[in-house]
Amino acid sequence: MSAIGLHGITKVFGAAAPALDSIDLHIPDGEFMVLLGPSGCGKSTLLRIIAGLEAPSDGVVAIDGTDVTGVSPRDRNLAMVFQSYALYPHLSAAKNIGFPLRSAKVARAAVAEQVRRVADILGLSELLDRRPAELSGGQRQRVALARAMVRDPGAFLMDEPLSNLDARLRAVTRTELIGLHARVRKTFVYVTHDQVEAMTMADRIALLNAGHVEQVGTPTELYDHPASVFVASFLGAPPMNLVTVDVERVDGELLARIGDDRLRLGITDDSTAFDTTTLTLGVRPERMDIAPRLLDDAPADPDGGITATVDLIENLGGDLLVHCALAGSTDRMCVRTARLGPTAALAVGDAVVLTAGTDDIRLFHPST
Ligand code: ATP
Repeated sequence: MSAIGLHGITKVFGAAAPALDSIDLHIPDGEFMVLLGPSGCGKSTLLRIIAGLEAPSDGVVAIDGTDVTGVSPRDRNLAMVFQSYALYPHLSAAKNIGFPLRSAKVARAAVAEQVRRVADILGLSELLDRRPAELSGGQRQRVALARAMVRDPGAFLMDEPLSNLDARLRAVTRTELIGLHARVRKTFVYVTHDQVEAMTMADRIALLNAGHVEQVGTPTELYDHPASVFVASFLGAPPMNLVTVDVERVDGELLARIGDDRLRLGITDDSTAFDTTTLTLGVRPERMDIAPRLLDDAPADPDGGITATVDLIENLGGDLLVHCALAGSTDRMCVRTARLGPTAALAVGDAVVLTAGTDDIRLFHPST
């Protein structure tokens, strides 16, 4: 069992703004939690505080409900896997993996058995006699993982463990880690700035921004229901389209106005919840439809869509990314569409209309 609780974790380095500002996060036993965020947002510092390698300026770290804030790293029963594998070059894979047990004076036969057990789980059985120089990057990373697993820790803490691997090995090792987590069902806390790793591996993601948690949830929750413009633009490639719109109320229905165009928002609201008339409208590129603009399209009709001009088309193989300049705004929008669909004949310079279902539209308040 290793549920991890973070309560009001704050970290201040010198006179700078806090690297972490009162973080509250509960990581249940067995969860694959990814700490995601841009460079410098504080994710490594948070992981090091969980590990006990860094002391928080304020707040409490709890493991299974027990306050471990002052407990040394070695007594937390957590295993840390870093970006650099830090293997001993003169020792075989087997000796590297067994090192923590030999240091703890475990009997030779028991060490050999534990090494075989984890090597088996990680597919390293055939490679145990090799030295690190005789292993590929992915195999070395698995040896480092095996060394972390051999003590049977309560949780694994990983800081960008795949970032030294090339793209192909990264994809393979990512799949292996997902499989490993499914087999061992231990708590994983995994730091990355790579949204693909986060989306594919996490049970839940905590997205950090400038020392605070922007949103915690499953990958689908964050992708479909981002709590802020920051989350909306951090997840997704290309990111969510974000356009500044004016909101008007017509016969009790809210419409977004972009220049001369109007778009239904699917909201009938006569409260004062919309205390501003300027909002940010968000739609994922794959949730937008694009069609050639016909001459009799009436732009002011709220069902008529957003008028735009195609100014760049990127061919991704199966799909096209169609980038458009909006007629009534300096904002731009991108539509992801099938290459062989009805829009296959689109060309740069074409006049188009963009539409989105009300279920796919997200609205963000400019300051909150
Ligand atoms: P990256 O993805 O670039 O590793 P990160 O999100 O892991 O970034 P941290 O390494 O946790 O970010 O750093 C958070 C902030 O704290 C940064 O502004 C960093 O410069 C600062 N910081 C981290 N460690 C120290 C330290 N030992 N002394 C002073 N400032 C530090």
